[in-house]
Amino acid sequence: MAHAPEPPEKYVCTACQTMHAGTVSKRTDSGHQYEAPAECGCCGGTDLIPEKEWPHFTG
Ligand SMILES: [Zn+2]
Repeated sequence: MAHAPEPPEKYVCTACQTMHAGTVSKRTDSGHQYEAPAECGCCGGTDLIPEKEWPHFTG
């Protein structure tokens, strides 16, 4: 298994669509585990979804 640097996951606030870097919640043998920020630093919204799910989150 290759040891490639793992980019941090990003999360998108569904309220204002600002992108935030995930916070590292724990380290594992295979990398890091990320979790969404508790709340959006821009609008205070708490609905943040992973960036990869964002394109599917329309309407
Ligand atoms: Zn926001």
